Amino acid sequence: MENILEVNDLHVSFKTHRGEVKAVRGVNLTLKKGEALAIVGESGSGKSVTTKAIMGLLPKPAGRVKSGEVLFNERDLTKLSDKQMQKLRGSEISMIFQDPMTSLNPTMTIGKQIMEGIRRHQNLSKADAKKRAIELLELVGIPNPEERVKQYPHQFSGGMRQRVVIAIALACNPKVLIADEPTTALDVTIQAQILDLMKDLQKKTNTSIVLITHDLGVVANMAQRVAVMYGGKVIETGTVDEIFYEPKHPYTWGLLSSMPRVDSKNSELLAIPGTPPDLSNPPKGCPFAARCPHAMKVCTEFMPDYSDVSDTHKTACWLQDERSPKVEPPETIQV
Ligand code: SF4
Ligand code: MG
Repeated sequence: MENILEVNDLHVSFKTHRGEVKAVRGVNLTLKKGEALAIVGESGSGKSVTTKAIMGLLPKPAGRVKSGEVLFNERDLTKLSDKQMQKLRGSEISMIFQDPMTSLNPTMTIGKQIMEGIRRHQNLSKADAKKRAIELLELVGIPNPEERVKQYPHQFSGGMRQRVVIAIALACNPKVLIADEPTTALDVTIQAQILDLMKDLQKKTNTSIVLITHDLGVVANMAQRVAVMYGGKVIETGTVDEIFYEPKHPYTWGLLSSMPRVDSKNSELLAIPGTPPDLSNPPKGCPFAARCPHAMKVCTEFMPDYSDVSDTHKTACWLQDERSPKVEPPETIQV
């Protein structure tokens, strides 16, 4: 399958009062046409910063792509001007954020907001844009779209607002949709409905999706591939089955153990003890070493290279080195 998006050795830094924070440190990702890739990890792992860098939405002037490239349709997005990026956003790459209220304008009708995006990027008459807005609301499962276009965001429930945000994101048939914790702000039943909707839309429109989440249940439901991030790096990547059933990295083991399991008698959640590394002074070795129960001397001194577990499965951990002791994943995640 062809790659629609490719992130190569991306480094992103922020200037803060504590000095330079190296939030993303050499990230590689690929997104294939029509697939959903999930990026998982704790907050501060670099997931959101990576996608903001892809979208050209790093806060200025503090955030900066230091090196690396983001290839989309053979163009390196890190080299585009703000104006060029603005043109691309919404038309070719769209983004859905966590809280629909922050991405909607409270003083403008829903119809106007959807039409605005359509008319900015497509050469449609007002009447045609309105027709398209109604179609889009119908597509995302909002009843009575002819009436609803005239209403304001506060007249919609949280779940319905997120549907509107998805409609806006899809308005110009983007090739890539980036969803940053799209259901976190919603209650559980609504979450499931929104995920079903996104899955359904992905099938219908063949949009490629990058889904950021800390919820592994969402990953299992939506994605085909997973990238696990920690300390500004991708530490394991593979198909959903590889990550869920044959995880190799101790941090992934920790994430899976901290996931509530429906099928287990032991419903206790095991949080990973310790805190993520301080990226204003990142460790020179493995970023997980301070929290890893299997850390060896080499781990604190050298960053492990990626080892290929299979054609689709890679991990960066010294346990994959043939000289390392054999360590099995904890029983809580053995299947
Ligand atoms: Fe643990 Fe070492 Fe592997 Fe890092 S490289 S996850 S510290 S065993
Ligand atoms: Mg985030």
